[in-house]
Amino acid sequence: MQLLVIKYDGASISSAGDICSVSAYLTEMSKTNRTVVVCSAIDRVTDSLMDIADYIRRGKKDAAKRLAASIINRHRRLARQTTKQPTTQKRLLGAIESDSAELLALIDGMILLGEMTPGMKDYILSFGERLSTKLLAGALTDAGRRAVALTGSEAGIITDSEFGEAKPLMDTTRLRVAEKVGAIFLDGAIPVVGGFVGSDQHGRLTTLGRGGSDYTATIIGSCMRADEIWLMGSVDGLFTADPKVTRDAKTLVHVSYVEAIEMALFGAKQIHPRTFEPVLSKEITMRIRSAKNTDNKGTLVTASPPLAIRNTVKCVSRIQNSGLIDIRGGSMVGMPGTAAKIFATLAAAGINVMMISQNPSESSITIVVKDADLDRAVNALEMKLLGQIIKKIDVTINMTIIALIGLGMRGTAGVASKVFTAMGAAGINVAMITQGSSELNLAFVVRNIDADTAIRALHDAFDLGRIN
Ligand code: ASP
Ligand code: MG
Repeated sequence: MQLLVIKYDGASISSAGDICSVSAYLTEMSKTNRTVVVCSAIDRVTDSLMDIADYIRRGKKDAAKRLAASIINRHRRLARQTTKQPTTQKRLLGAIESDSAELLALIDGMILLGEMTPGMKDYILSFGERLSTKLLAGALTDAGRRAVALTGSEAGIITDSEFGEAKPLMDTTRLRVAEKVGAIFLDGAIPVVGGFVGSDQHGRLTTLGRGGSDYTATIIGSCMRADEIWLMGSVDGLFTADPKVTRDAKTLVHVSYVEAIEMALFGAKQIHPRTFEPVLSKEITMRIRSAKNTDNKGTLVTASPPLAIRNTVKCVSRIQNSGLIDIRGGSMVGMPGTAAKIFATLAAAGINVMMISQNPSESSITIVVKDADLDRAVNALEMKLLGQIIKKIDVTINMTIIALIGLGMRGTAGVASKVFTAMGAAGINVAMITQGSSELNLAFVVRNIDADTAIRALHDAFDLGRIN
């Protein structure tokens, strides 16, 4: 008997058919395992709730209420389609009605207040998971497997008060989750916990950042000392490259936590960047797998995969639409504090810098930011530093960061030369290159229009189509 935390993303529980097959699968799994289910809001609901918050902020009450009504209707319809027993269905519809009444009342109240604070927004966003967990728990109960829906906050996740990007306070959380989830187990039911949401020490609802349900799953898994945590989504696992770009992209069988963290950052699959934090010290096995294709065990993620599968490079991923800023100035040479001034200026403007490089002559520093941040970054640098330590700023837009990820690059000679040879052969100009001393990640920048060709060339050069 293993303790499993099984997390579903929104897309895998958004139709009646999907909810029923997920519920059948969970019923089966829970016969031989203790199972905690975590789920996201159903497809696009969190986006709609963000829109509602925005309507409220702009005083558009009718638009906010109309959108709220359509979200509720979608859940009502799914509730009727996924339950057959009259008592379960009635109870489920009743629970949805009371969420609906609360959401509509909140909209009225917030419109009257005429403001939308980050805390209020998190309260609105929490409805997505409040509703989806009820649907899934309802379907399980209807199928004869009693389940209890609870929010992340009810499950005991206590966070700091950083609304919109809250972090769990693990010591308190550990005690409470073990107690609350443990009680439901004792009662013989399956806990269905809503992802993404927690509450701070004053009991105010918080959210963990977009995509935060993955993070909820690992927080719960760590608190419950789970044997395995499964992230169930619409693809079979982590890939060697985007299958839409490279036809022979393969699912990876086994990666390490650190590789998975890099892959999450580079958007190989949308995983919340802090997802792996709670399991690092616990060494809990994770799997990234498909909700539908359950015969496939997906990508295994553990602390240290066996040596035999530490391939040099495991995947080629990318971040599109980046801009390159080249900063020059004679007085930067040998001047301590130049970089500090540049980065302090960017930080004050709220700009996230994705890549940095400086040549040893110190006459130029190149940084890469998202296209969306580019104008603000350049403005800030011009206003503060141009004519002083900076002489010239050159900007290149429409660039893509390509990253090679793999633990096996560490200490392996010839990786960079292989990259440059492949790019040379494909006639692609590399604008910048960086590699951290951990050698886990080698990243370089090309033009957006060259990115697909670059990915295919590297996928071939490192033979990733035959990785497994
Ligand atoms: N529902 C939240 C979001 O859309 C959390 C998640 O899906 O993981 O960001
Ligand atoms: Mg998600």
